[in-house]
Amino acid sequence: AGSSLPKRATLADKRTLLDKVDCFIFDCDGVIWRGDSVIEGVPETLDMLRDMGKQLVFVTNNSTKSRAGYLKKFTGLGLNVKAEEIYSSSYAAAAYLESIEFPSGKKVYVVGEVGIQEELDLKGLQHIGGPADADKKVELTPGMYLEHDHDVGAVVVGFDRNINYYKIQMATLCIRENPGCLFIATNTDAVTHLTDAQEWAGNGSMVGAIRGSTKREPIVVGKPAEFMLDNIAHKFGLRREQICMVGDRLDTDILFGQNGGLTTMLCLSGVTTEGQLLSPENTIHPDTYVDSLAALLEVKQP
Ligand code: PLP
Ligand code: CA
Repeated sequence: AGSSLPKRATLADKRTLLDKVDCFIFDCDGVIWRGDSVIEGVPETLDMLRDMGKQLVFVTNNSTKSRAGYLKKFTGLGLNVKAEEIYSSSYAAAAYLESIEFPSGKKVYVVGEVGIQEELDLKGLQHIGGPADADKKVELTPGMYLEHDHDVGAVVVGFDRNINYYKIQMATLCIRENPGCLFIATNTDAVTHLTDAQEWAGNGSMVGAIRGSTKREPIVVGKPAEFMLDNIAHKFGLRREQICMVGDRLDTDILFGQNGGLTTMLCLSGVTTEGQLLSPENTIHPDTYVDSLAALLEVKQP
């Protein structure tokens, strides 16, 4: 933090960090993996941190999978991670609804994929929409009227590769017509690296569609929202002075850590380049930065 430019971590900085911090919160894409490949040196680094007795938490803004879905992904990549160490924005949406005691008689309308549905199911929350509405079409014939469900008390918008006009209209009607209906966004990432070749429209585009038609601001539950950190700190019994947030994105991960008073470390293994980090236009400064998580392995060398 502060106005001075961030500095690449030296060996001494890494030792100090490891002395000070008991828990690491890791962003996933760009820190642990890129798409479907593990970032080089990450498994060894995680093993080293575990051997040192550090608590590890893995947090992703990608709502397309549930925590169980991510557990499969970690395991499939050969990473030894426990179910309880995983925290996704799909889970955050369900945890948020639970935290406000969302009435059991009300339903959630989902714009999003199976991850959100699976997490809502685990909390016993009723939901409609999601993948079931993937192929719905609206025929705009004269007098066409789309009936919406009056029992929908919240619309949750997450990344949805099958978003369509039906879902947008249904979400819009629920938010505009049902008194007190909540508008919840799992995250608002502008773009994501779905392929190495280019950046792809992220959930910010889906949330933006519903924001545009309703003129309402969403309740964001993913990084950098405070709800997520409060919920993580509570769930894992963590004190903020002992936590380091490690991420590849300035406006979600690093901001998330800074808002919560955490130590922050940026990895250049994802979406942010050193040029962007050190550019005068960037005002979000992590406490330190490294090329990738594997840079921490240096502390093990004699
Ligand atoms: N949302 C989507 C749809 C994504 O594909 C990704 C990254 O792959 C993200 C969000 C960001 O995920 P993370 O928070 O793990 O970087
Ligand atoms: Ca990331």
